Amino acid sequence: MDIDDLLPLSGLQHVVFCERQCALIHVEGVWVENPLTASGRVEHDRVHDPAGEVRPGFRIYRALPLRSERLGVTGVADVVEFQLEDETGIWRPFPVEYKHGPKSRRLADQVQLCAQAMALEEMLGVDVPRGAVFYRTSNRRVTVECNAALRERTMAAARRYHELVEQGLTPRASYAKKCDHCSLIEACLPEITANLSGFHRKLEIARREGSDGGDT
Ligand code: SF4
Repeated sequence: MDIDDLLPLSGLQHVVFCERQCALIHVEGVWVENPLTASGRVEHDRVHDPAGEVRPGFRIYRALPLRSERLGVTGVADVVEFQLEDETGIWRPFPVEYKHGPKSRRLADQVQLCAQAMALEEMLGVDVPRGAVFYRTSNRRVTVECNAALRERTMAAARRYHELVEQGLTPRASYAKKCDHCSLIEACLPEITANLSGFHRKLEIARREGSDGGDT
């Protein structure tokens, strides 16, 4: 895959959360800063201070560049811990993604973490069976098992992400509970734009019926 075709890895969480949100950000270039996104960005900047840590049998790297041709994405891992396995002599990577908010098992976060694990596997040639998402508000780590089902979900998300970007598609809004937690709600206006689409459809049907009537 050409380097120009690689998309930001972070978009995988967007496409899982909401395809319209993904397209607004990665097709239309919409971004709205709010207190949540601002504090998330500050936290990432802090984590991305590249100073690592080295202890016998254990290393931590921050802001590690990632690339996966299989998923067609590129990005930066917040933290990757490497543990030396006595039995194999392998330094096993364990990616840790930092998130704002309380402890959660959000699929979008797990897909993003799994994509990091898959990228590390491709880059380093070692299995990465698990990693973790660290939720700052609750100060809790949630271990993510990168099993076959999550890997398949991650591949599917990557395929759909590329499809949206290549076709320049922005799916129609459909209001759901998750919209209340979406940073783009004011740009998307789901309750209005979802109804507008219906309104436009009705207008189109009325127009066609009107023109059919005019012909007879
Ligand atoms: S407000 Fe709702 S429909 Fe609009 S982008 Fe956000 S989650 Fe998607």
